[in-house]
Amino acid sequence: MSTTQANPEFNLALVGAGITSLTLSVALTSLGIKHTIYEQSSSLNELGAGLGFGPNAARALKVIDPDLYKIFERVGTFAGKASQPQAETAKPVWIEFLSGTASLSDQTSAAPSFTVYATHGKGHAAVHRAKWLDILASRVTAPIIFSKRFQSLTQPNAANSEVEIHFADGTTVHHSGVIGCDGVKSKVRTALFPEAKCTYSGKYAYRCLAPLSEAAALLGEGRAGVSSLWMGPSAHLLTFPVLNFLNMVCFVTDSTPTWPSNSTSLTVPTTKADAIRDYTNAGFSSTVLALLNMIPDNDSTLIKWGLFDLADNPPPRYWLNRAMIIGDAAHASTPHHGAGAGFGMEDVAVLKGLFQELLELGGGVQDLEHVFAQFDASRRERDQWLVQSSRRAADLYELRLGEMSIEEMRRDIETRQEICWGFDVEGCVTEAKKGLRARLGGSA
Ligand SMILES: Cc1cc2nc3c(=O)[nH]c(=O)nc-3n(C[C@H](O)[C@H](O)[C@H](O)COP(=O)(O)OP(=O)(O)OC[C@H]3O[C@@H](n4cnc5c(N)ncnc54)[C@H](O)[C@@H]3O)c2cc1C
Repeated sequence: MSTTQANPEFNLALVGAGITSLTLSVALTSLGIKHTIYEQSSSLNELGAGLGFGPNAARALKVIDPDLYKIFERVGTFAGKASQPQAETAKPVWIEFLSGTASLSDQTSAAPSFTVYATHGKGHAAVHRAKWLDILASRVTAPIIFSKRFQSLTQPNAANSEVEIHFADGTTVHHSGVIGCDGVKSKVRTALFPEAKCTYSGKYAYRCLAPLSEAAALLGEGRAGVSSLWMGPSAHLLTFPVLNFLNMVCFVTDSTPTWPSNSTSLTVPTTKADAIRDYTNAGFSSTVLALLNMIPDNDSTLIKWGLFDLADNPPPRYWLNRAMIIGDAAHASTPHHGAGAGFGMEDVAVLKGLFQELLELGGGVQDLEHVFAQFDASRRERDQWLVQSSRRAADLYELRLGEMSIEEMRRDIETRQEICWGFDVEGCVTEAKKGLRARLGGSA
């Protein structure tokens, strides 16, 4: 470690103001680390409706900020809560998997093909995305500068001891380090590793909310109140309750391998008729089509969400000199494990632990690269596993993995979800701290 023991004067830049960035901001503020958030949009925004957090994400929140965890407990719609009042003692359902091509009347009392249960105690919950972002924002005290689109950066050099950040509006700022939290199409990632490109996974999703009461009238209260995944060829539909709504994420395998070439955005406007046509073409049952029919007519907010990921061109590492990437910027994934944001929470818990350790050891800005390098060593392998495994999960839900018995499918999903949920967040933080100590020349 550098011999300077002075109290470090950090002045970090966080690029992007999504879930990862705002949570990181709360963590950095708790350590007294100064930072500024730069967001390209003119205000905070979250598209889509429900966001599922597994027990790994819940544990990470506890590490990041116990108060934030308590709020999560209060506002989350917990697995099995709606249909199983005794779920505190019973094993709650994570997802019931059903045939999407057989109508409800063909299935004995809508019996699932198989069920995957939530493990690792209470912790599986869905939060309302926009409301969760508002909660995070209310806890952020660092400045958020809007309408600032990151364009490029210049690393410290002989003439300049700080990172220079260049924005699309032609302005420049200086910071001791940069943390790219700018999501799937991260410009910070491109600046560091141009070869790490996000590509279209060949799947898109419609996302919408329907009144839970309407869904219960259609499916019965038990089915509407529990997370269900309707499987079928070239599409699958995930439904779960969030507050008084049924959140519907309608995944479709695209018949063309390219996202509309005229769209630089991850989303394109669409219509209810498009969604119904896709599911009709994929051979889904009248029950699933009736679910899609609950999408309000003329819903001008309905969007088709292109699913991009880093599976084909992952970043070779997460940092370069004084800049690093975290959250979707580092591990953009398709959402088939429902865990992308949760892994971002794990990232934040580990990065918080590393900064905490750095401060305790009396390290400073000059040691930032060690923090970033250790973060990469602690997180990249697990994060990139998610990216690959998520693609495979979609193939399984859409019955593309050849002959598999129901039992084999259930075991396969359980094994992968266990890797997501069973992760020892606290242990990872402890190991990361040890690693940092070793890098700084102290004893591990
Ligand atoms: C259909 C779907 C369902 C999902 N379901 C789940 C789920 O149930 N559970 C789960 O854990 N995860 C889920 N995910 C994944 C989850 O949404 C993401 O992992 C999470 O939102 C990533 O957060 P982030 O803060 O890293 O990135 P983002 O939320 O993308 O935030 C990035 C921010 O950076 C800003 N930005 C971008 N570029 C720039 C720039 N150049 N300059 C300045 N600012 C910039 C953006 O405007 C944005 O505000 C799902 C994803 C999808 C698509």
